[in-house]
Amino acid sequence: MKIAVLALQGAFYEHEMILTELGADYMELRKKEDLSDSFDGLILPGGESTAQGKLLKELGMFEPLQEKIRGGLPVLATCAGLILLAEKSCNDERAWFQTLPVTVRRNAYGRQLGSFHAVQDFGSLSAVPMTFIRAPYIESVRKDVEILAKVDGNIVGVRYQNQLAISFHPELDSDRRIHRMFLKDICNT
Ligand code: GLN
Repeated sequence: MKIAVLALQGAFYEHEMILTELGADYMELRKKEDLSDSFDGLILPGGESTAQGKLLKELGMFEPLQEKIRGGLPVLATCAGLILLAEKSCNDERAWFQTLPVTVRRNAYGRQLGSFHAVQDFGSLSAVPMTFIRAPYIESVRKDVEILAKVDGNIVGVRYQNQLAISFHPELDSDRRIHRMFLKDICNT
């Protein structure tokens, strides 16, 4: 069982530390050749979705990764990662993998002062700490997307088949239940 962490930009290191803590093997995806190693799951970290999307394309990693996600590769996407997966954005004409049938709103809480903390239930998990940093939220979902969490009425966590996508940063809090949920329920370890 090995999880690949997209390590082009953003908060990938924190996810790697958590995988280590939970006893899961990981590798970094930094260049196209890394995609030829075998891995059983993928983490798309927070950061800047436009920078990440452009780098993925420039490095020739975009299509192969999109194929893998379409093919059922388990994915945990946080914040910018959610934007990369979304079918579309209501306030940005750019879209990337488009494997997750939701519409996101980028920087939905404002650009500068948009960072805050909340505690909310997440699917079967109760009182999960949620740190939001210039976060998107999900404006709307197709009906077969499972909504896992809302904060102030806005959708901040969903599951669709092999994809678990969230607006906030679980890697910045000490609660490991979302990573455990990913490893157990999505990666089936
Ligand atoms: N605002 C970033 C974007 O639109 C996401 C922020 C984050 O990942 N913390 O890509």
